[in-house]
Order: sequence, then C-alpha cells, then structure tokens
Amino acid sequence: MELSSRITNITGGGSDGWGVFYKARRMIDAGINVTELTIGEHDIRTAPDILRAMYDAASGGHTGYAEVPGTASLRRAVAARIAERTGVPTTADNVLITPGGQAALFAAHMAACNPGDTALFVDPYYATYPGTIRGVGAMPKPIVTAPDTNFEPTADAINAAAPGAKSLLINTPNNPTGVVYSDTTLGAIAKTCQDHDLWLISDEVYDTQVWQGTHTSPRALPDMADRTLVVGSMSKSHAMTGSRVGWICGPEAAINHLITLATHTTYGVPGYIQDAAEFALGQGIEVEEAVAAPFRRRRDLTIDALAGQNAVRAVPAQGAMYVMLDIRATGLSGDTFANALLDAEHIAVMPGESFGQAAAGHVRVAMTIDDDAYIAALNRLIQFAQTQIK
Ligand code: PLP
Repeated sequence: MELSSRITNITGGGSDGWGVFYKARRMIDAGINVTELTIGEHDIRTAPDILRAMYDAASGGHTGYAEVPGTASLRRAVAARIAERTGVPTTADNVLITPGGQAALFAAHMAACNPGDTALFVDPYYATYPGTIRGVGAMPKPIVTAPDTNFEPTADAINAAAPGAKSLLINTPNNPTGVVYSDTTLGAIAKTCQDHDLWLISDEVYDTQVWQGTHTSPRALPDMADRTLVVGSMSKSHAMTGSRVGWICGPEAAINHLITLATHTTYGVPGYIQDAAEFALGQGIEVEEAVAAPFRRRRDLTIDALAGQNAVRAVPAQGAMYVMLDIRATGLSGDTFANALLDAEHIAVMPGESFGQAAAGHVRVAMTIDDDAYIAALNRLIQFAQTQIK
C-alpha cells in the first residue's frame, strides 16, 4: 500500500543527521566504551519529590482522561509563570498543555500554516524543525546564518526570506549553537513579522538555561503578543524529558483552535503527569537553577579548557546545554571530524552539518556527563583536533 507523501517525506529524503549517534550506539552495543556527548539529556533524573507528586496523583485517582486543554490549575500555573517572567498579561486561556515541546512545535505550525505555505526557520536548527514543518504539509525555508554573527540571523537575511512566508520559527537560547539572541536581533525579527504579517513561533524550551546576557521572550515586544506562539516545556527546565509535558502560549483564539486539534490528535496529557508538572513549577526558581547549574559549571570549564590553543574555538556559549565548537582550523568537515573522533577516541559528538549547512565545520558537544569525564573528553577532543592540523 502506498503511504502518503506527507509522512514519507518528513525527513525530506535526506539523512536524518543522526549517523554518528547511531554509530556510537552500535559501538556501545558491541561493548566499546564510548563517551556520549550527543543528545540533550541531563545526567540527572527527575527529582524524587516530583516523582512522589506523580505517584500521589496517580494513586489518588488522576489516571483517567484528563482535561484536554490541560488541567485548569496547571494552565493557571504556566500562565502565571509566563506573566511573571515576561510582564505580558497571560491567563489560562492563553495556554494549552501539550505532550512536550515537540508536540507544541507541530501544533503551532498547524495553527500558523496551510498546506503548501512557506514556514521559515533559522539554520543551524534543532534537528526536528524541517521535518515538523513538512509534517504539517508546509514548506520549510531556512534563513542561513553565519559563524561571524555567532549564528544570529541578520535583519537583511530575515527580510530577504520573509516575502510570501507564513511563519518564522526561532529558538533562543539556541540549540545547537548555545547562543542567546540579542535584543537587536529580536527587534529585527519582530519588525519583519509585523512588516510581512508572519506568525512568530518562539521555541523557548531552554529559557531557564542562560549563562550570559538575558533571555527576552519576543512575545513581550511591542505588538507581538497577538502574532506569537511560544513553545515551552518541562523537559529541560526540570529534567522531565520522559514525562512529555510542555505548552503553547498564544492568543486565546489560536489556543481555542489548538484545543480542538488536541482533541482530535493527542487527547491531552496524563493527569498525574500534569499534577507533577504543577508541583514542580510550584517549587520555584531554585529547582530550575539547580537543574541548570551543572551546565553553567561545565560551560565555564569549557572556556578554561579551550584557552591557549587555536585548533578549536567555541561559539560564545551563552545558554542551553551545548557548546558549539568551530573545528575549521583542522580543515575537516564537522561530519568527518566527528566520525574520525569517534573512531580514534571513542568520543561521540554531533557534526554541525546535522543541524544545517550554516554549522558546517563545527561540532556540537552536549555537556551532559559528569564534570571530570566531560573535561577529560574535551581535552582529548582538543588534542585530536591539534593532530589533524596539517
Ligand atoms: N526544542 C528544542 C530546541 C529542543 O532542543 C528540544 C529537545 O531537545 C525540543 C524543542 C523538544 O523538547 P521536548 O519535546 O522534550 O519538550
């Protein structure tokens, strides 16, 4: 039987960019000791008190169908958190609870784009972005950035891409680059969205992981709340990746339609997971800071380790759990470097090319193992890079 082109074309026919990751997994299965610095998963697990809240909710009976838009109290808690952090008046009616940020990204594009519409996104990008856009039947169009602007999109590039597009997807703090967009960049993005009548889809799943500068939600910029759909998640902020709980925040009319979409797709998020998320949010900012602290520490260790050599340069690591390393001095592509590093040193990092053409000649390192092992692996990566320079 023939399958729909919509589903068979999700990856666009190309590689999914996870070749090094799969190769590392095969090596691990074969008993080889590989240092894994590939995926964005904390090296801690969800905190015991959050798990207890989940257990208490489930054993208290919250195991039936939950309210599809999210429980009223979790929607209120998310709205209060957003209002407090951004200053934008936000109520539960502006919030839909989703099974993680990924489902929110898909739903946001469903809300913004008709089949065949052009949806913009910034290259380098989180690996699922183009596929998510294709999945809703829209056409992904990258705005290619450059290392010399630290991978922030320029006003010229955004404006050049905008005519005829329906939406623009941005991510700050950024995966894979670790860059936090400046107010100038966000101002240019907001202006282009207004000039070209675009929806702005703002992926803010790393908003609690900022090491330098400040995170501004573009929904808070003048006249942006009506055209911005913010994607949020408990995955990164509270080490709850496996719980699959996140949200979309946007105009009430959009949220109402997104609730209809949820009714016909996910049918919501389990009630005991939502109760645990509400409990976690209620624990305040200290919990988020504690989850973020190891990445902040390792980011500082990274800067120290890279000092005094020229083989590897870091893109300024301002936020998120990754550091993007420029290895162009070796003359290798990110893909060749990552494969050779895996073969020679048994260290797995993601080639920059997995995240689009802009990050060619780079590798992304996830700071997701304990400090000593992380620094030992980084030092070996640097030494390996030095041996590659002709
Ligand atoms: N957005 C970005 C930029 C990410 O890096 C991720 C996960 O790594 C997600 C969204 C999806 O996160 P989740 O679906 O776990 O909330």
